[in-house]
Amino acid sequence: MNRETMNTTQTAEPAGAQKGMSDLFEHALRDMYYAEKKIYRTLPRMIRAAGDATLKRALTDHRDETMEHVETLETIFGQIGKKPKAVKCDAIDGILEEGDGLLEDFGGTEVADAAIIFSCQAVEHYEITRYGSMRVFALALGLPEAAGLIDGVLAQEKAADDLLSQVSESQMKMAA
Ligand code: FE
Ligand code: ZN
Ligand code: FE
Repeated sequence: MNRETMNTTQTAEPAGAQKGMSDLFEHALRDMYYAEKKIYRTLPRMIRAAGDATLKRALTDHRDETMEHVETLETIFGQIGKKPKAVKCDAIDGILEEGDGLLEDFGGTEVADAAIIFSCQAVEHYEITRYGSMRVFALALGLPEAAGLIDGVLAQEKAADDLLSQVSESQMKMAA
């Protein structure tokens, strides 16, 4: 895809036309719509398996935020005049599958919390990369409101990641 096609897709495109930035942005929205919903359904398993009270609380709070993220994505779909639609995202499926495997291997052990943090931080970092890109795409597409909403979600993902780092560090200190 060259620069020219990226800039001309906003206008009427013939069937089979090359896809452009708005298509990529819509794909990203659908990806994250799928991802956030799946994260929401996966978090209870992590919360149940967590031993540390602060970790349980952090994950529980972030699950509520995750529902807000789903709703924010629905708002952005509306802003671009599209119906909310999910598309299977292999990337998040892989990360969450690995997380379930880690729970099987390490759940109930003395490193269960560390294993939960290990997989949840992978999820947060995944979300951070995607929302970081999407924020820039939204600005490029002249969608400052969408960019602002994405920025808000991004801040919550970063805060969740930071909190997991803090819990991890305090646990490691206790173990040392
Ligand atoms: Fe999220
Ligand atoms: Zn994708
Ligand atoms: Fe998150």
